[in-house]
Amino acid sequence: MAEHTGLLAAVMDTVHDAIITINSRGIVQYSNKSTTKLLGYSREELVGNNIKMIMPGEYAREHDSYISNYHETGEKKVIGTSRRVTAQRKDGTRFPVELFVGEVDGEQQETFVGVLRDVTEQAAAEDSAKKYMVDLERSNKALDDFAYIASHDLKEPLRAIHNHARFLDLDFGEELPEDAMRRLNRIVDLTKRMEGLIHELLYYSRLGRVKLATEKVDVYELVKDIEERLQDLVAEHNVQIEVQDSIPPLFGHRPQLREVFHNLIVNGIRYNKSNPKRIQVCFHPEHEYDGKTLKNVYAVCDNGIGIEQEFFTDIFRIFRRLNSEQEFGAGTGAGLTFVKKIIENHNGVVWVQSEEGKGSTFLFSM
Ligand code: ADP
Repeated sequence: MAEHTGLLAAVMDTVHDAIITINSRGIVQYSNKSTTKLLGYSREELVGNNIKMIMPGEYAREHDSYISNYHETGEKKVIGTSRRVTAQRKDGTRFPVELFVGEVDGEQQETFVGVLRDVTEQAAAEDSAKKYMVDLERSNKALDDFAYIASHDLKEPLRAIHNHARFLDLDFGEELPEDAMRRLNRIVDLTKRMEGLIHELLYYSRLGRVKLATEKVDVYELVKDIEERLQDLVAEHNVQIEVQDSIPPLFGHRPQLREVFHNLIVNGIRYNKSNPKRIQVCFHPEHEYDGKTLKNVYAVCDNGIGIEQEFFTDIFRIFRRLNSEQEFGAGTGAGLTFVKKIIENHNGVVWVQSEEGKGSTFLFSM
């Protein structure tokens, strides 16, 4: 027995956490070596004294109320639980600890054991992550507001330029030389294009400003519905759209999720020269991304022209296009930016895998 007690004491002194036992009145009976290292009190200073000495005032009062509540009702509120509290060293400095309180069934009197782990570094990391998140949210919101205001205000003068060019054509069209007419038409075309871009910018900012109502969305039905709405395009381009039967549902904002799948499917058809063009929508319970294993990953694959690796990030930037308008039709280059924004609004990530000439797979997890 004595041998065991010695061994136990030695083991306790090798543990990195501070271990302190108290009786039912809060008087310290034992502390291990790490307690001294962590709090600056020697074992002799602690034993026989009230545990409150290592607690800042407000916690000490709280502790008193636990003890008196225990004596009055026999109720053990904090036993078996772990929580974040503040401890106070002998020199008065405070630091965060994770405190676990357990109960030892003593023969004569009740003994409680407290295990304290210093979580200073962890708490600092959490604080800076929290601060970073708040800053990020603030700047995202500022950016969305800016895009909204700017695009709203740009619309008006643009309309005016467009109208003046049209009036010039109507009033003086017949007198204008051919070259001037060509340039006038170009101005009209460009104002139309710019209007389209402003419209996309407004929509982008709106995506970041709306509150999302989420619901369970059946992905199989959603894709089938998109396919039906795209039936003319599907027939014209000899497209096969396959969706995995057992594909699990997603939780999110239905119209925005529709937009994600719609944009990815339309891109898979548009940037594609194969015959037939094949689009597959499937699910991976797990998938590697950026050195991490992500769960519940949805994928939209195509057998299209593919994307060079150096553009994997670029394509998600607003108004960024890689292919010629003549060959693949006019687009604004905003579709994938919307996809990314929507997925990020759902706390998710989206990325692409692709091999030039073989096809692309857009994957997302949220
Ligand atoms: P848009 O289609 O209007 O140009 P997107 O943001 O949807 O805008 O796409 C940006 C660019 O990324 C496209 O112009 C195209 O060059 C490339 N891209 C998108 N999807 C695919 C795809 N499935 N296969 C090959 N290239 C693609």
